[in-house]
Amino acid sequence: RVNREDFMRALDEVHPAFGVSEEELQQVIQNGIIHYDPVVDELLKSGILFVEQVRTSTRTPLVSILLHGPPGSGKTALGASIAQASEFPFIKLISPDTMVGYSESQKVTAITKIFADSYKSPLSVVVVDNIERLIDWTPMGARFSNAILQTLLVLFKKRPPKGRRLLIIATSSLRLILTDLGLSETFDSELRVPPVSSLHSLEHVVQELELFPSEQQRKNAMRMLGEAGFGSRDELSPTFQIGIKKLLSIIEMARQEPENVAERLTGALLELRAL
Ligand code: ATP
Ligand code: MG
Repeated sequence: RVNREDFMRALDEVHPAFGVSEEELQQVIQNGIIHYDPVVDELLKSGILFVEQVRTSTRTPLVSILLHGPPGSGKTALGASIAQASEFPFIKLISPDTMVGYSESQKVTAITKIFADSYKSPLSVVVVDNIERLIDWTPMGARFSNAILQTLLVLFKKRPPKGRRLLIIATSSLRLILTDLGLSETFDSELRVPPVSSLHSLEHVVQELELFPSEQQRKNAMRMLGEAGFGSRDELSPTFQIGIKKLLSIIEMARQEPENVAERLTGALLELRAL
């Protein structure tokens, strides 16, 4: 059996996979996972429970989970990390980013092929990333590709052949729309990936990335944020809750100006509110 320590260790290691997607997976988790909030560990732990369920239970050869949350909250990275940590022999990422320029029918073919390939392996994980973009969801007029949606609906429900087991990890920022499209019912479980939502978490990220040369400077910056009305150690005001992806890019930007790191950080976060 795999315990939590093994799992956490596996997250830090590189593993070859048949699925060819090794490179793609590596790419989406190259920045690593920062444990800025207990919820991060809880999500990874839930992930491994589903991995173990697929690995051990003969009753559930197909398990599908949905990681949903605001844009940039870390859904793709978490999904890919869980997939990679499974060490299943077939791991594949289906991402709109790898299908740029594909026609609708090419996308249907590519998606169908990946699932067909997964059925050849005893244990597989398929990450279906960013469902709304996969189906070309357009809020204006609520348009989307029905062919791709129908393909996903069928594949999400299709039991793998005898002796084969499959974990599907889907991600989306538009959970409510998935319900309207009839996709929500296909998931066995939904996990919400929240934004960074406390000053304490924000400080954890800043510290992990060594944005400030000293603890004193870091503490001062955090005090500045508190005074600027960002919120408390335990809770950021809703307007300042920010996806980890965006926070990482703001931190790298602030780093470019070593003299004014705290001001740059505060300024960039303040701009978010203006959006
Ligand atoms: P989008 O809504 O645009 O699809 P997303 O929710 O899928 O975004 P990711 O693309 O996964 O977000 O971006 C998260 C980034 O933050 C990645 O670069 C990842 O390495 C990094 N990261 C650091 N810590 C974490 C964490 N605890 N959880 C998730 N990602 C993290
Ligand atoms: Mg994503």
